[in-house]
Amino acid sequence: QVAEYASEKDLPVVTKDGQDIALLMNAGLLVDLPTLHKMGAQGIGLYRTEFHFMVKDELPRVTEQTSIYKQVLAEAAGKPVVFRTLDVGGDKEVPFLPKVKEENPAMGWRAIRIALDRPALLRYQLRALLTASAGHPLNVMFPMIAEIVELRRCKSILRKEIDRLEKLGKEGPTVVNVGCMLEVPSLAWQMDLLVQEVDFVSIGSNDLMQFFFACDRGNPQLANRYDLLAPPVLNFLKSVVEKCHSANVPVTLCGEMGGRPIEAMALVALGMRRLSVSPNAVGPVRRMLRTVDLKHLEKYVADLMDTGLHSIRDSLINYAKDHDI
Ligand code: PEP
Ligand code: MG
Repeated sequence: QVAEYASEKDLPVVTKDGQDIALLMNAGLLVDLPTLHKMGAQGIGLYRTEFHFMVKDELPRVTEQTSIYKQVLAEAAGKPVVFRTLDVGGDKEVPFLPKVKEENPAMGWRAIRIALDRPALLRYQLRALLTASAGHPLNVMFPMIAEIVELRRCKSILRKEIDRLEKLGKEGPTVVNVGCMLEVPSLAWQMDLLVQEVDFVSIGSNDLMQFFFACDRGNPQLANRYDLLAPPVLNFLKSVVEKCHSANVPVTLCGEMGGRPIEAMALVALGMRRLSVSPNAVGPVRRMLRTVDLKHLEKYVADLMDTGLHSIRDSLINYAKDHDI
């Protein structure tokens, strides 16, 4: 089946009624990158940098980080790459940080919380990203931002690193696009500020949804309790997407949700136009998008939103069957 999807890699990602959708891929290892071309994704919408840190005994030096990011850009061969700064802590342990025993690691000392407490970590990573992107655009985003103040602190660290590079007379990126992940619900209540502060937004639905429902994403006992296709979720995402679009800020969803065709159908129906999905989901999601009549689907989904259903999944599955999707 992989070969069959690969043969469709050059088909445009456009719905039956002519709406273009950006279909990007998530990656976190250099070995993921050939799939970008093999499956014809339009770029890397989320490059998880932490894997390179998790396999080392000590903090990788700036030069070592630079060389990894350079390789990523080289392998992407001109397709855009969005680098996410380190998201360690929680369940992702790294040898060079103290192990802290936490009752709720997912809600604990992780990601940007560590970076802002240990700013050198972030500074060196940004330095490596800026250096590696010399002559290219750099797209960088920050994980687990809960409030605008945190984003501003990250941006000021980035600014200092850009200034440093300029002072040294070194070549930097042609442009630096700053993004923010939306994966902590509190930030959604600062959308008006957020869209003024960033060049793009990326919705991390894996974390966002576990906090939205107060439901551990890794707990098998809870796996089927809440459904991501619940109207409250979809209404929430719709309002985020609308806020971004009205400010002309591109918004991508990069959680696992976007890689499942039924979920992806709901997402495009509520207005999402950019999805970044795991490598094996690129083919199935492209195929779904090309068979869907978006205008028709939008109306169908809109009518289901205020019905008080636990989930619109069954209705969407029936819709897909009825319309040969
Ligand atoms: C997410 O939370 O949706 C996300 C993309 O980040 P990760 O899965 O790496 O936590
Ligand atoms: Mg996350």
